[in-house]
Amino acid sequence: MGMQDYDVLAQKYQVPIVVTGFEPLDILQGLYMCIKQLEQGTVRAENQYIRSVLAQGNHTAQQIIAEVFQVLPRKWRGIGEIPQSGWGLSETYRAFDAEQHFGLEEMQVSEPPECISGQVLRGLKKPSECAAFGKRCTPDHPLGATMVSSEGACAAYYKYRREVIV
Ligand code: SF4
Repeated sequence: MGMQDYDVLAQKYQVPIVVTGFEPLDILQGLYMCIKQLEQGTVRAENQYIRSVLAQGNHTAQQIIAEVFQVLPRKWRGIGEIPQSGWGLSETYRAFDAEQHFGLEEMQVSEPPECISGQVLRGLKKPSECAAFGKRCTPDHPLGATMVSSEGACAAYYKYRREVIV
């Protein structure tokens, strides 16, 4: 998608944004670039990952995505529906749409009442503030989306926890 959309976000929310690669040195340099902006009081989107990310993005990929998909409202586990937040197949490819074929559009996936993953996902609460964390909810028996995936916040908190859960 390129860099231009991130600059809009940096200006809107007045926070520095750095696009980085995945290697440890990439992330370290990305943090350094972010800290430099914070110390200088500047706000912009910067590109650390210049070996892969172009300012204008990947035109070929953008064209294919525009042809195959269209932007739709989507339901997100723990959060609910967000307008214009997901992709669906475009009219041209509607014959391949498994969602329509199997009638899955109205499928509801809700978390148990004690799960606060929606607040975790929005940064309002930490996983350790959930009463079920590490007790009724573990990676082997997840109750919510953020414990299911190994990179989910609850799963990461569980894996790297320092305290013994009683
Ligand atoms: S620990 Fe489990 S129940 Fe609690 S918020 Fe995370 S996923 Fe939901």
